[in-house]
Amino acid sequence: MSASSCLPIFPGTVDETGQPATLGVMGGGQLGRMFVHAAQRLGYFTAVLDPDPQSPAGLVSHHHIQTGYSDAQGLAQLASLCAAITTEFENVPSAALQTLAASRPVAPGAAAVAIAQDRIQEKSHFMASAGVAGVTCAPYAVIETPEQLHAVPADLLPGILKTARMGYDGKGQARVKNAADLAAAWADLKQVPCVLEKLLPLKAECSVIVARGWNGEIVGFPPQRNVHVDGILAVTEAYEGNVPPALSERAQAATKSIASHIGYVGVLCVEFFVIDDGSEDGALVVNEMAPRPHNSGHYTMDACDVSQFDLQVHAMAGLPLPAPRQHSPALMLNLLGELWFDAGGQARTPDWQAVLALPGAHLHLYGKTDARPGRKMGHLTLTGADVAGVKATARRAAELLGLPGFEGAQ
Ligand code: ATP
Ligand code: MG
Repeated sequence: MSASSCLPIFPGTVDETGQPATLGVMGGGQLGRMFVHAAQRLGYFTAVLDPDPQSPAGLVSHHHIQTGYSDAQGLAQLASLCAAITTEFENVPSAALQTLAASRPVAPGAAAVAIAQDRIQEKSHFMASAGVAGVTCAPYAVIETPEQLHAVPADLLPGILKTARMGYDGKGQARVKNAADLAAAWADLKQVPCVLEKLLPLKAECSVIVARGWNGEIVGFPPQRNVHVDGILAVTEAYEGNVPPALSERAQAATKSIASHIGYVGVLCVEFFVIDDGSEDGALVVNEMAPRPHNSGHYTMDACDVSQFDLQVHAMAGLPLPAPRQHSPALMLNLLGELWFDAGGQARTPDWQAVLALPGAHLHLYGKTDARPGRKMGHLTLTGADVAGVKATARRAAELLGLPGFEGAQ
């Protein structure tokens, strides 16, 4: 009997041992917290595995197992509590997912997560799957040995050297202009396996989120347009016209192909660049994928009838996957730790009184009490009847919060 033969798992049911239908998540960050909220709203019990006693998801879950991600006892406890298990961060050890999958449905599976954890594998996967939609990766070279370093073609420079594993929010990356820079940057990165990507002329960045079920059914959202500041997502714009229609179609087709090619189950986010190739629309390049809901999809909670977290719950539990419908244009602003400090470095509370008075303002704070610069503390989604109104409210919110680098509302 396969682990997925118990699907679907309906909320509000009790199994033969008297245990209420419980869904589990590896990782207790904000993505886990929003997953827990979505699961609980449907009527599931939840369990979170995260060593941090203050983890945002652990704080709101029925069960919080406070062990490391590879701890055999912790994993056994999670498997015994839960009818199905998902993950909220890509660096969860894939061996742990494999262990859980021996007895429970796990979505996404260990193999898919392992691909997303390694840029080298990820790029091979993209080359094999995104091409059907006419989408390629940035030109790149794998650098694992000094020979490969010396063999790098000159036309990949200037470029960005990225560690194959464990990079996020622009960490583990160095911009390099020439061969000497490249050698120095690889030495700085301790000569771990890397990829060197050609630095591309970006017109814009966008991402596509899809959900794929155990039966291969797939639904998704149109692309969000994303603005990064210092390597961290700052603004997501989600409304018609944010990306040229032809690119939007192609990005959605590529994402579906990327998911289907590996029999992916769960929510997947794929990030794209729109590069300046001289054409009016620009060309689409696939950057990377996240085997989970994504920061750029948070607007779906307030602007769509089904959110990315609802779809994560549905997909893992074997429930139907309704096609989401966006009912309002939306703009999301990430709230990083620096907003909790004034110009003199004194701790402060952002002006929620004024922000919460704005029409269509949806504040989401993640329950983190310790603000640090660059730390994702929450986000603010603005919805409204039309794009111009949403942009105007977002501009006002950004002013009230003192958000630096806000470009989305111009
Ligand atoms: P994430 O937080 O999304 O996981 P990351 O650390 O994995 O980020 P990437 O998404 O690879 O890193 O890159 C971070 C940002 O750097 C991109 O969003 C883009 O703005 C810029 N960037 C990355 N690669 C290139 C490239 N080849 N050419 C131009 N800009 C790039
Ligand atoms: Mg990225």
